[in-house]
Amino acid sequence: MVLIGLFLYLFSSSSITLLHRIYMFLHVVFMLWPLFQFASQTTAQLSYRLFYLSASYAGLSLLGLGWFVFVLFLTGQSYYIHKGRLFILSIPAVLSVICVIWNPHGLFLSIQAQNMPSEQLREGPLYWVMIIQLIAYSVASYIILLFKLKRKDESLRQRKMAKTALNSLFLLSFFAFADLFINVSYVYHFSRYIPLISVGMACSATYIVYAISRNRVFDIIQIVQRDVMNTMSMGIIVLDENNTVIEVNKVIKPFIRVKLGDVFTPSAVVGQFKSEATKQLLDFFEAQAEHPLERLEIELQLELNHIRHVIMQSAPILNQKKRIVGRVLTFQNVTELRMLLEETNIQNELLQERNQELLIVQDELFQANKKLEYMAITDGLTGCFNRRYLLQQLEEEIVTNVRHQIPFSIFIFDLDHFKQINDKHGHLVGDEVLCSTVEAVRSKLRLTDVLARFGGEEFTVYLPHTNREQADLIAEQVKIAVEHNSVPTGAGDSTVSVTISMGTITVDRFDMTNLTYPKAYLKGLMAQADAALYEAKYNGRNQIVKHKLA
Ligand code: GH3
Ligand code: MG
Ligand code: MG
Repeated sequence: MVLIGLFLYLFSSSSITLLHRIYMFLHVVFMLWPLFQFASQTTAQLSYRLFYLSASYAGLSLLGLGWFVFVLFLTGQSYYIHKGRLFILSIPAVLSVICVIWNPHGLFLSIQAQNMPSEQLREGPLYWVMIIQLIAYSVASYIILLFKLKRKDESLRQRKMAKTALNSLFLLSFFAFADLFINVSYVYHFSRYIPLISVGMACSATYIVYAISRNRVFDIIQIVQRDVMNTMSMGIIVLDENNTVIEVNKVIKPFIRVKLGDVFTPSAVVGQFKSEATKQLLDFFEAQAEHPLERLEIELQLELNHIRHVIMQSAPILNQKKRIVGRVLTFQNVTELRMLLEETNIQNELLQERNQELLIVQDELFQANKKLEYMAITDGLTGCFNRRYLLQQLEEEIVTNVRHQIPFSIFIFDLDHFKQINDKHGHLVGDEVLCSTVEAVRSKLRLTDVLARFGGEEFTVYLPHTNREQADLIAEQVKIAVEHNSVPTGAGDSTVSVTISMGTITVDRFDMTNLTYPKAYLKGLMAQADAALYEAKYNGRNQIVKHKLA
């Protein structure tokens, strides 16, 4: 008994499949009957005989249950047996064992010592109760196995397993009935017990052991599959076609509360999610019902202990005939990924903000640069171009003009007796006069003409594409405009007017040798215009002197 106990402990605790364990339990039960039957034959003492017989019948009582559980596991229906259900299922067998051991008033078995040895055993009504429970378990096992075999979409391995079990169950029940028929019903025709059921058990077990070693029906693949499932980072639920949970790995725990045998319906799981996710989840189940063949995915927020972002996927399981036989649901925790993404988004936004700020600074810099550029080429008081800019422009322009023989003109004019205005009305009025004169001059120039302050109250105008006649006309208009321009002095209504003296030069004959030293050529031109201006001053001011030879 100790050895048997140790054996039972070993096979229930070591790493073999549950199916192996259940078969071994059945095998041990098989062993009990012939062992104690044999023991009962070895003694003439009635009390010992009764003990051994009781033990053998106790073993026999468990046989039906053993077979039934074995068949359930073999056909993949193990999820139907929780602890509670297994308890209910085993009640008939356990009651039967109790009856056998208790044997009230010999209602199970009695020994009539006065009879012949072969007629000493008397089966009572409880004996038949045991037989009925055995038959009931067997019939249930037959039904499950036949149903399994009838289903064409089962895998070859599954069918092989079912067939093995069916054959060995048939062998056993055949011999058991023969035993019952011969030894119990016709006990008076035979002088001694013929152990047919033991033969049946031996045949049945031999057949199963043969099938195990030959066809590998209880393959270790199952152990590997379970290990793989449990070491994955993903939670997995496998549902059959009725949405019953038939497989679930250990990793599922943090995602959702579910156990084998549960029916996985929307209403059963929705409550476990955040309220916002409820509608999402219901939509998901609806979509799954509408497109059962598609692999669907949804991202949810789960609220088990703390909030978690989870990607839930649902994919159909198809058999060889492309018929849906179940679904696989996977749950993947993407909280860290989400947090990283959120962090990246925030950083991106910050970066964008900085970029925007940089763009603004860049624009400001651009504007400042433009202003600086403008300041570098203009005169602060009058807004005309400055001397440097004009000379630079002219240097380039005259080369082009000479090369393409385009006539152009240059004016140099100076305000007459300007010092007196300063002296009389002050520098501020002088400034006003300067600005106002510039405006008057500009009003007579064209947009393409370049007006520059050459220094003090002396100005230069470059007139591109301008021949002598045009230059004379413009110069005259400028002179008159200045003459007619009057500037308020700020003291009452009094105004002040100025005149200008002007020297002009027009280039309409072109000498290509001038292109060799454009700077010197320009200097010469300016000097000639300046000489004309000097002449205008000398001649009495408020007049224009044209330089003749250019
Ligand atoms: P002329 O007819 O010979 O040119 O006599 P003028 O008094 O105009 O000539 P002069 O060269 O003696 O004097 C020029 C004056 O212009 C001297 C200077 O004070 C004044 N001036 C030069 N630049 C400015 C300026 O920006 N603002 C003011 N208010 N006066 C200026
Ligand atoms: Mg002057
Ligand atoms: Mg001057």
